[in-house]
Amino acid sequence: MFRFTKNIEDYSQEIFQASKYIGQGFRVTFDHMNRKPITIHYPYGEMVPSERFRGRIHFEFDKCIACEVCVRVCPINLPVVDWEYKASMKKKQLKSYSIDFGVCIFCGNCVEYCPTNCLSMTEEYALSVYDRHELNFDHMALGRMPTVS
Ligand code: SF4
Ligand code: SF4
Repeated sequence: MFRFTKNIEDYSQEIFQASKYIGQGFRVTFDHMNRKPITIHYPYGEMVPSERFRGRIHFEFDKCIACEVCVRVCPINLPVVDWEYKASMKKKQLKSYSIDFGVCIFCGNCVEYCPTNCLSMTEEYALSVYDRHELNFDHMALGRMPTVS
């Protein structure tokens, strides 16, 4: 008799615990039903990046002095700065500049240390391509204004 009572008591406790957990589950579900979704239906909806988001780098050709500081501070020496020395002007003249975003880790060092501020991080994040070589942006592509503002 005592054993039967004990079994009933244990069984009741288990039912109570199960009801409690189901109730907790429903409380979380109802709580989330009142919230706005944090996911977006990309590409139909676009993400709004934070102010400090580090996206595609923008480059201003006219401001670059070909000092190559960006190359030295880059952890993987990524920017390719092609220049020639103009004896008549006694200074370097930039011929081309490129960054391969297939390799870049978007650390922002080049932007941080560029003495003429000709590099800046944009909020552009949609960089997917079919061929990874298309991610090697020359100065024309780098100079394009970002598609996300
Ligand atoms: S650090 Fe700036 S100015 Fe110097 S080469 Fe790089 S982009 Fe040009
Ligand atoms: S963001 Fe970082 S990894 Fe990319 S080019 Fe600049 S320094 Fe190099």
